[in-house]
Amino acid sequence: MLELKQVEKRYQGKKGNTVTALDDVTLELTAGEFVTVQGPSGCGKSTLLLVCGGLLSPDRGEVILNRSSIYVQSPEARAKLCGQRIGFVFQQFHLIPYLNLRDNILTAALTDPSAPAPARADTLMTEFGLQDRAHHLPAALSIGERQRTALARALLNEPQVILADEPTGNLDPDNSAGVLASLSRFADSGGIVLMVTHNPDNARYASRCLHMNEGKLS
Ligand code: ADP
Repeated sequence: MLELKQVEKRYQGKKGNTVTALDDVTLELTAGEFVTVQGPSGCGKSTLLLVCGGLLSPDRGEVILNRSSIYVQSPEARAKLCGQRIGFVFQQFHLIPYLNLRDNILTAALTDPSAPAPARADTLMTEFGLQDRAHHLPAALSIGERQRTALARALLNEPQVILADEPTGNLDPDNSAGVLASLSRFADSGGIVLMVTHNPDNARYASRCLHMNEGKLS
């Protein structure tokens, strides 16, 4: 379970002003939920995912993963916990250009060297139809293959939560449907998906749809 309690995040604006990106956000995500977040550009959606994923400390409030408040832990402990329990998928894939497909998937194991990563990477490559592309660099992959690689990387450690920031934003309808179906399967098997999307059609995959506006979640 992932929980946010009265979370607030402010940034210093360019003109010395204060921008409130998360304004008193309270949210409970439980196993099996596929939750979408929609809202205008600049309303705080990416900030929400970063704070949920242990990558950005809030100014106030708590982020609780499995009853443990993650920002009271040391950065090292938090990185390990979140690396094991949380996977990220981004619109721009964020693959490492000089690593082949298989090694890109395996980068997720760096937070947990004890994990049976190589065998799991091979299973995921087969599941996503990537096995023949294992030794190709990202530049040689199709856009759909790049996002499936990023999804496999996010799933490598068998996380509890997938945080997805516009994961279908660069994909054609067929590849979008494939990624959304994979995220649905992950939620159906007891995972939590929190997905930012601009596409209202994607909401039909969701068990719950949230809206953000000026840092407020409803
Ligand atoms: P969204 O993902 O909905 O577009 P963001 O979370 O990226 O929204 O941003 C929310 C607000 O915070 C925006 O006004 C944005 O300009 C501002 N912001 C985001 N990151 C920073 C930063 N590092 N420094 C200053 N302002 C930021």
